[in-house]
Amino acid sequence: MAKSFPNMKTMVSRKTRTFVAVTLLALFCSSLICVSAQRKEKSTQTKQEVKPGTADQQPRRRADALLAQMTLDEKLGQLNQRFMLFQTEESLNDGIRKGEIGSLLFVTDPAVINRFQKVAVTESRLKIPLIFGFDVIHGFHTIFPVPIGMAASWDPKMVEGAQMVAAREARAVGINWTFAPMVDIARDPRWGRIVEGAGEDPYLGAAMSRAQVLGFQGDRIGSPEHLLACVKHFAGYGAAEGGRDYDAANISDAQLWNVYLPPFKAAVDAGVGSVMSAYMDLNDVPATGNRWLLRDVLRKEWKFRGFVVSDANAVSDLKTHGYARDGQDAAVKALTAGVNMEMSFSATVYLKNLANAVKQNQVSIKEIDDMVRPLLETKIKLGLFENPFVDEARVKTTFDNPAHREAAKTAAARSAVLLKNQNNLLPLSKTAYKKIAVIGPLADSRQNTLGSWSLAMDVNETSTILAGLKTKLGTGTEIEFAPGVQMDRFSNPSIFDMTLKEKHPPTWTEVKAADEFKTAVDLAKDSDLALMVLGENQDMSGENASRSTIDLPGRQLELLKAVTATGKPVVLVLLNGRPLDITWAAQNVPSILEAWYPGSAGGNAIADLLFGDAVPGGKLPFTWIKNAGQSPFYYSHNLTQNPGEQEKRYWNEKAVPLYPFGYGLSYTTFAFSNLKVSQPEIRIGETVEVTVDVKNTGTRAGDEVVQLYIHQQAGGASRPIRELKGFERVALAAGETKTVRFKLGPDELRYWNAAAKDWVQEAETFDLWVGNDSTASLHSTFRVAQ
Ligand code: BGC
Repeated sequence: MAKSFPNMKTMVSRKTRTFVAVTLLALFCSSLICVSAQRKEKSTQTKQEVKPGTADQQPRRRADALLAQMTLDEKLGQLNQRFMLFQTEESLNDGIRKGEIGSLLFVTDPAVINRFQKVAVTESRLKIPLIFGFDVIHGFHTIFPVPIGMAASWDPKMVEGAQMVAAREARAVGINWTFAPMVDIARDPRWGRIVEGAGEDPYLGAAMSRAQVLGFQGDRIGSPEHLLACVKHFAGYGAAEGGRDYDAANISDAQLWNVYLPPFKAAVDAGVGSVMSAYMDLNDVPATGNRWLLRDVLRKEWKFRGFVVSDANAVSDLKTHGYARDGQDAAVKALTAGVNMEMSFSATVYLKNLANAVKQNQVSIKEIDDMVRPLLETKIKLGLFENPFVDEARVKTTFDNPAHREAAKTAAARSAVLLKNQNNLLPLSKTAYKKIAVIGPLADSRQNTLGSWSLAMDVNETSTILAGLKTKLGTGTEIEFAPGVQMDRFSNPSIFDMTLKEKHPPTWTEVKAADEFKTAVDLAKDSDLALMVLGENQDMSGENASRSTIDLPGRQLELLKAVTATGKPVVLVLLNGRPLDITWAAQNVPSILEAWYPGSAGGNAIADLLFGDAVPGGKLPFTWIKNAGQSPFYYSHNLTQNPGEQEKRYWNEKAVPLYPFGYGLSYTTFAFSNLKVSQPEIRIGETVEVTVDVKNTGTRAGDEVVQLYIHQQAGGASRPIRELKGFERVALAAGETKTVRFKLGPDELRYWNAAAKDWVQEAETFDLWVGNDSTASLHSTFRVAQ
């Protein structure tokens, strides 16, 4: 704990510096369209598409030919990635000219990108192009729901399509590389970055990881209009102790292999071209200096052939962690552990120290070459040598594509989760309510509709919930808005606040706060329905946004109680990236819709859902705990002692979550039947087929996510009470039945066993359940024999 504090401070100041610069960049970018129209350098006439055949021409041979011509300094330059920060374009150009910079991040203006690239490919000795990276996490110009929201769609195809749009928009400005997908398993919602991943489950996490890599990269590295993906943060970052961002993670080998690593493995199997090493200590060895992770697991066992980039400043932070003696030691430890590229603000520990380390025989030239080669190969595969520039004239048409907005709206609708719907209050009638009160601090906040890592969008293109309702209902219904309360991270503002395109409103005086509260409650009294939009400001979850409680910040609960007390029907829409303590709402508010941070088209999508033009079908990607005291809490725990008394694990309250993993309602109902297992017994290595019928038993069309869970009854280790091993989101017309098929083979039935220190498949009996959440009751068994 004592050690974590200085680390955190360093991190804050470092990130603060980053974001001062990012803000400046954002200002540049706001004039992007007109700048690009005016400035048409000859270089921009070249096509962005990779010419067939060129990108894949023996990248290894070409990389080796280049390596043979490079000086040691030029090699080290390729390992150096710099933020566009605290330095003029000219000073960066100076480094580029000298071959000291291999990559830049956080440049989003295509004209600036082309200018930097021109220096690299015309003025540096070997004319090696730069690779431009950026955090394209859930959209670039068009913002999609935050990743935890997209995971709640349980629809990998949709997620792949969303990241394809994100890639196309980012590629249009000349970005080649995204620092995504973020696939850290998160089982403690105090950890703010739970919003950036796919939640608690390795199987769902792996499916989302694969989908995102395919969406970003296309069918190969170098596909036109795609990006190089970077799976992060390798590995175990989501297990930060106490949910405190950047704190150490202590994870058993079995948990690592069975829970935390599968989404990374899925990305590698899907062909991900790069990996980002994590910030924190994993079992006392910093992830960025962790040879076992980066060499033994990633390269030897998984056969990863791309390159590893450190998280920002993580190489120099090996000193901060007390792992490296000085800069040179940090550089040697990171490089020999397997970090190819150092991402840094100004530390450039590699550039400053590795030549010395070579002289002192701490690192060999062969080791340096082995680190540089995959970077060159990637640049070759991306087609950067043939087509280094971006066509600035195409930016506007790419951004203006209406299909991108439509895709974002579909994604937002498919990601929403209906948590409660007493007496079918939803969907609302478009004509029954003459006056609707829209209440809450998030109802008309564009920035808070988007979520964290929304940096390069035009905030004016965001449809808030209020705007979405107005568009949907036109003038036929009176819609009035009152924020009611304010919330903020007052004493501890987010390091990302500087990037906001829509600033936090000025803080109300006490008198104004009392006035606004009363106005909101009076508005509810005077309306036929109150639609409350509550949750967290977008900067309350994300990086550096962990918190010790999960209550509704500020006076939101008080407001919700006061509005509910008016007796008017209340619908609660939540905008947030983690489970919140909504126990009171779950007992007292008739309808609750989890909308996450739904993105650019969020308001329109939520209006569609509220008024029945779309039907909720999302499911929770995490266990929704009641309060932070229950954390960590996940469905796939072991049985251990007295499993029948699981609910009594605390004496002061029931040890049950508010909503289970996989849970979510619809406007229609579904029934499962006919669960069949193809054979009662299979042999190790064989596959069993499971079929089940799912019927829409209601009167309207809807989607159900059919989920398959298994449990190994005995064996060489205690196995989780349930584990997700299959799912499919199925669309069903009213009355329709479909048969869903799953396969359970060695991949699903094996696990990593601590005693064997290896993957094992055991001859044992398995339970299986199929249903629509992790408490599914339709049950069968089968046996695996030797
Ligand atoms: C984050 C990464 C991110 C990088 C670059 C770091 O602080 O941990 O997820 O990709 O910054 O912005």
